[in-house]
Amino acid sequence: MANPVVAIVGRPNVGKSTVFNRIAGERISIVDDMPGVTRDRIYAHAEWTGRQFNLIDTGGIDLGDEPFLKQITEQAEIAMDEADVIVFVTSIREGMTDADERVARMLYQTDKPVILAVNKVDNQELRQDIYDYYSLGLGDPIAISGVHGIGTGDLLDAIVSHFPAQTEEEDDQRIKFSLIGRPNVGKSSLVNAILGENRVIVSNIAGTTRDAIDTQFVTEAGDEFAMIDTAGLRKRGKAYENAERYSVLRAMSAIDRSDVVLVVLNAEEGIREQDKRIAGYAHEAGRGIIIVVNKWDTLKKDNHTLTDFENAIRSNFAYLDYASIIFVSAKTHQRLPQLPAMIKQVHENQQRRVQSSVLNDVLMDAIATNPTPSMNGKKLRVYYATQVAVAPPTFIIFVNDPDLMHFSYERFLENQIRHAFDFSGTPVHLIIRRRK
Ligand code: GDP
Ligand code: GDP
Repeated sequence: MANPVVAIVGRPNVGKSTVFNRIAGERISIVDDMPGVTRDRIYAHAEWTGRQFNLIDTGGIDLGDEPFLKQITEQAEIAMDEADVIVFVTSIREGMTDADERVARMLYQTDKPVILAVNKVDNQELRQDIYDYYSLGLGDPIAISGVHGIGTGDLLDAIVSHFPAQTEEEDDQRIKFSLIGRPNVGKSSLVNAILGENRVIVSNIAGTTRDAIDTQFVTEAGDEFAMIDTAGLRKRGKAYENAERYSVLRAMSAIDRSDVVLVVLNAEEGIREQDKRIAGYAHEAGRGIIIVVNKWDTLKKDNHTLTDFENAIRSNFAYLDYASIIFVSAKTHQRLPQLPAMIKQVHENQQRRVQSSVLNDVLMDAIATNPTPSMNGKKLRVYYATQVAVAPPTFIIFVNDPDLMHFSYERFLENQIRHAFDFSGTPVHLIIRRRK
């Protein structure tokens, strides 16, 4: 089941992004140490009492030059569309304003749970004033201070209380994937071409709204896939659909729900800055990745065209060195029939579990050929490694002192693991721990 989405709304300066960072910062994450990729300020994974969710700061969605009031109402609209729970942030310092009341009136229209948070309640005296906020008609206000971290626990408890009860994860055989990429690279065309190659399953099982917009199909080989709707595929004709930040948001939630993400590039236009940003999100999320170079039919090709393009990808997306690349055309269907098997393989690699004994043999052999580094006369010792998770495959390596693990040596160990086992298409995370 998809993680619940929580959106923060409110007029500027009430402290939305402070609260956002506060909540996102509470998360327990083992994948925090990925270099080179900027974190997106408006979207984060969070966790509270074992419940995972995704958090959106609608205040960060830039809607262009729209007047101020129009911006906040559109942000509230996005929250009402995208979120399962809405957190409406106000501020006790500036008090209740017309803009607050306007947002409140908008939120009356949704049947989604709305939690009213009164921010900047930095001390006890200020707390007296929060009763005024009952007049917004949105129930009990929760006093918080984003800066001091006061009340965050209560806020998170209230948020989590609105999540649907956790159901047993159904045994879902379908491989979920999405296509992401900037406008015009050919995502919609690829979707249609892929569906044209396969048999679409019409499902009448009622799922969540988000599940319902997935398209399911089965290949000739009998493999079942679910294709997740992404930005631009179902144009709803609202102005904000065009905002780049908004399409990023849609891409992020699609990435979250995917096992494998197809990062689509346009061969005709080459690699652009925005491509890198989009690919970065998929990488950060730890999903399987296939780089799909579309419109391959448009190029005049010689013996070097493919290798040149591949080299350009490798140098522009250095952190995606594990991703597979395929050159296709939605127009001529060139290589498209290979795509499902490729997605399936990446998914398998993501789920691969390596036996500790075999893993340790591989590492000890690696260390024998390339001895561990030393720093200040102290030598790194690698004691033992074990795989602790799949999707992405995550390994803990126990050592005498994590500070002695140089980035390049860690990279070497990862490469040895990749060499021994097929993890192509999936990131691999190494966690270096001190053995107690
Ligand atoms: P946003 O525009 O709603 O995202 O608001 P920001 O998070 O950028 O915060 C606006 C201003 O309010 C910043 O100067 C913050 O430091 C300040 N602020 C945020 N939370 C608190 C709080 O709990 N107490 C106080 N005193 N100031 C806060
Ligand atoms: P999206 O915005 O990423 O969904 O892109 P579209 O699927 O709407 O495609 C944008 C344009 O590129 C359309 O005019 C398509 O006909 C064209 N296009 C898409 N795929 C291909 C392809 O493989 N070859 C060629 N020549 N044109 C393509």
